[in-house]
Amino acid sequence: MIIDGKKSAEELRKELKKKIIELKSDFNAVPALTVILVGDDPASKIYVKNKEKFAKEIGINSEVIRYPSNVEEKTVLEKIIELNKNKNISGILVQLPLPEHINKRKVIETILPNKDVDGFHPINVGNLSSGYKGNIPCTPHGCYLLLKGIEKSLSGKHAIIIGRSNLNGKPMAQLLLKENCTVTITHSKTKDLKEECRRADIIIAAVGRPKLVKGDWVKKGAIVIDVGINKTDSGIVGDVDFEEVSKVARAITPVPGGVGPMTIACLLQNTIECFKKSNF
Ligand code: NAP
Repeated sequence: MIIDGKKSAEELRKELKKKIIELKSDFNAVPALTVILVGDDPASKIYVKNKEKFAKEIGINSEVIRYPSNVEEKTVLEKIIELNKNKNISGILVQLPLPEHINKRKVIETILPNKDVDGFHPINVGNLSSGYKGNIPCTPHGCYLLLKGIEKSLSGKHAIIIGRSNLNGKPMAQLLLKENCTVTITHSKTKDLKEECRRADIIIAAVGRPKLVKGDWVKKGAIVIDVGINKTDSGIVGDVDFEEVSKVARAITPVPGGVGPMTIACLLQNTIECFKKSNF
């Protein structure tokens, strides 16, 4: 089974669009998302363009503030503080990566946790790891929803996560622990990654290494979620060797068309949640 992330994202966006119509009639206002884009990294520009397009499509007011790559850190921080104070703005997202002279941590911690649609603020990270409500990082949330779409109960499953980034691997582990999975987090220093993977019922690959996960790394019937987006001479590929793994896995996400569209849909969902928090 190929997991159709595009279709799942489309369904989620339809639901969100309905929610926004209801919110509009209740509050006479709609959620608003502001994205800050620094520099002109081509991938970031595409991500931001898509975020803006889908936000507008479902009725979220969306605005992109663009700065040149040599913008001073102070300018970005002051803009965030201004947006924090603006009652009409529900969510703030600073597109990563940032140029080296801008301190990513400072930027993330300046965004009010209630407006942090990426779920990267330490308060939101803490909420997730404590099992409390808060904004969940969009990519792992998207992976989680895709998994739940296949298997209602993940309880007791052995899940392996390849990659331990704050963006993907770590929040993914928290989400799966909450579902009563037994979670193994692996990384570049893990010994015998292949053997670790072969034991898993669920594999989440968030590495950034083209086609790292091979067919003989995967137990027959496992579910494989490929987060990776890698540019190669033959186009965009994931961290999983799709051709090989799709022959053994019970279900697998393609790249593109798997996790990517769900990431954006989850961002829109977070924006709506932030709006609700500021209005209820
Ligand atoms: P990252 O911050 O670079 O982290 C990569 C992780 O993979 C690190 O924990 C690293 O280990 C581990 N790793 C690297 N090489 C490895 C190897 N050979 N074996 C095992 N582990 C290895 O990357 P990220 O931001 O999490 O992104 C991962 C991938 O997801 C990238 O391709 C990115 O483009 C993609 N992505 C996709 C979406 C989407 O919407 N689909 C969103 C975000 C990111 P160490 O910690 O030991 O260095």
